[in-house]
Amino acid sequence: MKQYSVLSVSAGYQEKRRSMYYVWHKGEWEQLVNVQALHHGLMVTGADGIGKREFCLALAKFLLCDNKELKVSGGDCGRCQNCELFDAGTHPDFHLLTSETENIQTRIPLVSAYSDRYQNVQARGKKTKPGKIIPIDQIRLLIERFSTQPHISQHKVVLVMPADAMNTNASNALLKLLEEPPENSTLILMTSSPGFLPATIRSRCMLVNLPTPRRESALEWLSQSMDEETASLSLKLANEGPLDAKQFADNGFLDTQGQYMNQVSNLVASNITPLALAMDLSKSDLSIFLGWLHGFVCEVIVWRVSEIKPNRFDSSDLVWSSKSFSVERLYALYDKIIFYKSIVREPINAQLVTEDLILTLKSAIR
Ligand SMILES: [Zn+2]
Repeated sequence: MKQYSVLSVSAGYQEKRRSMYYVWHKGEWEQLVNVQALHHGLMVTGADGIGKREFCLALAKFLLCDNKELKVSGGDCGRCQNCELFDAGTHPDFHLLTSETENIQTRIPLVSAYSDRYQNVQARGKKTKPGKIIPIDQIRLLIERFSTQPHISQHKVVLVMPADAMNTNASNALLKLLEEPPENSTLILMTSSPGFLPATIRSRCMLVNLPTPRRESALEWLSQSMDEETASLSLKLANEGPLDAKQFADNGFLDTQGQYMNQVSNLVASNITPLALAMDLSKSDLSIFLGWLHGFVCEVIVWRVSEIKPNRFDSSDLVWSSKSFSVERLYALYDKIIFYKSIVREPINAQLVTEDLILTLKSAIR
């Protein structure tokens, strides 16, 4: 499959590239860029790991490009001053807000380059735990910088990603910008959890929902960098998001998930106490564990209800089945997972959260 010149860490962003979204979003892209007067507030949503960030960056670049003739054909020109500065990470009319954690962990160099402008890089470097939220200071700074005329483009673009990382104060401050947008400006809010944003923000944006690619497309893309079996397994674990699947495979997460499965088996067989297991798990990244547990609980429920065993549980040494769990208790665990996912960016006590989750999981074992 032809991939539309996607940013990758190794290739870097200096290379001249016409656009950066993934081919499976071509339909949504064409629909959006052919709109005559685009809404000033866009909320780009979709599942995790499908390429929303790349899509939003491509859109920002497209809006800033001044080469009208090429824009008519549905992409940025990649050659004008706007495009060159954008790709170099130095365009003055592009504003990107994200959390400190995302700035450090991102797979896209452009994200670090632009978001550095809104973060105290020195203070961030000294922190043992970089911030997971977008604080109000960033929005205040944005409002100050955004009130001026565009510097070189005819347009100004703000990208907040993920928008659900804004705390309440930050969202309220951004609302003012959405209510009274400066001329020739576009605000793009990217999120996989629009429900975590205030309704007042959502109602002022046009929704752009990016679909999860079909399994065959995702597998074809993944198989460029890994064998078929690994691609298939990682895709399942990543809830069908190909970019997350690639990251899982690259970062050895497949081993971690194997360990999680063993630990659940130990819990079912009473080989380990819930508190000892929670203690052990609290050493790993809480958001990764929450993501895994979310997928696990959903699939056990599906297995129980449909009586069809999901592929993820294909293992000869599995000591339990879906019947080992109470569905009602799994739903209670599901609610807790959703709640903790909504606050995982706040400073929370990971050990207490993990204990609560594991005790609830244990209570679901019949
Ligand atoms: Zn251009």
